Amino acid sequence: MTSLHDLPYPALERALVADGLRPAHARALWQAVHREGATQLTERPDFSPPLARWAAEHTGAGGRYFLDAPTVAADTASSDGLTRKFLLRLADGQTIETVLMGYTGRSTACVSTQAGCAMGCVFCATGQMGFVRHLRAGEIVAQVLHVQRTLRARGAARLRNLVLMGMGEPLHNADAVLTALEILTDDRGAALAPGRVTISTVGVVPGILRLAEEKRAFNLAVSLHSADAAERAALVPASRRWPLAELIAACRAYGAKTGRRIFFEWTLIAGTNDSPAHAEQVAALLSGIYAHVNLIPLNPTDGFSGAATAGAAAREFQRVLRERGLPSTVRQRRGIDVAAGCGQLRAEKARAVATTLSPSQ
Ligand code: SAH
Ligand code: SF4
Repeated sequence: MTSLHDLPYPALERALVADGLRPAHARALWQAVHREGATQLTERPDFSPPLARWAAEHTGAGGRYFLDAPTVAADTASSDGLTRKFLLRLADGQTIETVLMGYTGRSTACVSTQAGCAMGCVFCATGQMGFVRHLRAGEIVAQVLHVQRTLRARGAARLRNLVLMGMGEPLHNADAVLTALEILTDDRGAALAPGRVTISTVGVVPGILRLAEEKRAFNLAVSLHSADAAERAALVPASRRWPLAELIAACRAYGAKTGRRIFFEWTLIAGTNDSPAHAEQVAALLSGIYAHVNLIPLNPTDGFSGAATAGAAAREFQRVLRERGLPSTVRQRRGIDVAAGCGQLRAEKARAVATTLSPSQ
């Protein structure tokens, strides 16, 4: 069985033509799936009889195709009403997080690319749970379509921004991620603008070089957290595989090849990577790179004892960067009251289940 959500437009068209349908049928099917977000394809008055027959025969029980239709295992809204966080359950029971920020014209979806993550960043709830599996392209696409339906139900404008900052490491699952983005930026469907899509990576060097080589028009965010190789390795075990010096060389190559700005993410952890000296160090490391730094005070998680940097220290860090000519933004993780850090909602649910199973604790 193949998910229709896994297929980019040309592949869908080939599949339908191979079954005796016409290219126009592919267009109608694509619009139903990717523009409307339909999760089942029977009883659609807009489908011509041959397409309706095909859908009934091939997308129902026992058919060759299916649609990715994750169910909502949890749906929480932040107290300010601006953030919705979904825990979506996939066909095999795995749960992943998808977040919608803002209902105005400036809405952003944050989606997952893997169940769990293999990179093991010590402060990250997803890293703490370990790797479960890659998501297919269709499972990434389906998260965006779920967000689109949520917006539509509120009468809100179409989704504007997409960030791959949910659970998982996008460039550890690059083929599925790039296929999903090809599908989501197709004008005939979800029609996201490539320039409003951000891929966030822990620093998978081959993936960064691939984005540069293929001149992909997406934004790139690199989760740096430290400008010192040993200190970074303590926070981000993946940097033993792709050392800091190689990562920065890849960023320089990316910048030279694409001319694009790179966003550097920096989780501010009190007493660990938030001193003015750390700020001097990052400014030196990134000198000559067209860069913007996003400073994110740590969201505490169960498996890590660190604390968030206080506002005054964050502003001081930012002042040092500014003096060195490096622009930055301090980002408050929105909707912190709904466990906004990546992987935290799933971890919370797992805890609740554990407590239910062992009431004596
Ligand atoms: N794997 C990718 C994308 C998902 S994580 C990456 O690491 O870039 C998205 C961002 O959230 C990363 O910058 C990550 O460092 C940050 N993050 C993870 N856990 C966090 C926490 N507990 N507090 C603050 N930021 C966190
Ligand atoms: Fe994986 Fe990103 Fe979490 Fe690191 S921060 S463990 S790369 S999801």
